[in-house]
Amino acid sequence: MSDLDTLRASALSSIEAAATTADIEQLRVQLLGKKGAVTELLKGLGKLSAEERPAAGAAINQLKEAIGDALNRQKEALSAAEAASRSKASAIDVTLPGRAVARGAMHPVSRVLRRIESFFTSVGYEVVEGPEIEDDYHNFEALNIPAHHPARAMHDTFYFSDSLLLRTHTSPVQVRTMETREPPIRVICPGKTYRVDPPDPSHLPMFHQVEGLFIDEQCSFADLKGTIIEFLRVFFERDDLKVRFRPSYFPFTEPSAEVDVQCVHCLGEGHCRVCSSTGWLEVMGSGMVHPRVLEMSGIDSEKYTGFAFGMGPERLAMLRYGVTDMRQFIENDLRFLEQFQ
Ligand SMILES: [Zn+2]
Repeated sequence: MSDLDTLRASALSSIEAAATTADIEQLRVQLLGKKGAVTELLKGLGKLSAEERPAAGAAINQLKEAIGDALNRQKEALSAAEAASRSKASAIDVTLPGRAVARGAMHPVSRVLRRIESFFTSVGYEVVEGPEIEDDYHNFEALNIPAHHPARAMHDTFYFSDSLLLRTHTSPVQVRTMETREPPIRVICPGKTYRVDPPDPSHLPMFHQVEGLFIDEQCSFADLKGTIIEFLRVFFERDDLKVRFRPSYFPFTEPSAEVDVQCVHCLGEGHCRVCSSTGWLEVMGSGMVHPRVLEMSGIDSEKYTGFAFGMGPERLAMLRYGVTDMRQFIENDLRFLEQFQ
């Protein structure tokens, strides 16, 4: 019987030392399998005498049961531990830093458009939009630019037919407004415009304009100057920004003036590439609406006067953000655009 005690002791200690459920299964084969140690003992019963056999058989069966129980207990414990470690390995680590989501940014030209709209709506103007595909009448004729007019040469555009084209400025929106509304009129017309200009640092075939129109009784050039100077000072955030009006010519205004601001880069000192060493930057065109233009749109030019102005958001964005090449606005280079977050 001491053989059984030795086997029991070594079997139980091996089972206790098993580290994995695979080890347990291996031990089960070694101990209880067809050729296992306990099975061999049972086979040995045949050699015993009939008197010895029942007691020996009972003892071996008891050992078999004890080993079976020990194997099952240890297997259960190891399975639970293995399951726990598997679920730990596949679990989500909530302490890991999250994956960053790239932040979008508003395009610099859109930002400038918003700034312009925000100023003019705050002083009583309404934002009005119109079609980008225009007819010849609204783009040229109604603005005092008849077919033979030399100003058309500066407005070469993309034609769909003899009378249908991509608008070269947002002025036709002003014409449409004058045709359908009674003064007083206070509107700004932002939008895309088109000209046959190959892209270079200061030209694009598609660009934006914001034009403004004010029509009322007793509207004077002083109103035009006051409005524009105030806008430019707010836009460039400089209360003492110097602004000058230079006589110019536009077919649809009379008198007309180009508007310059003191160079925002050298502050008017000159010796600067941004302003070509002049100390001034041209930022918009303006003038009193030509009486002919008022009359063509059905507005009594004896009773009403008005002023109009137009500016390029791309140019203003270049000055405000220090951009030197207009083409960067349409190249969709994220390294450029991400700077405006
Ligand atoms: Zn300058």
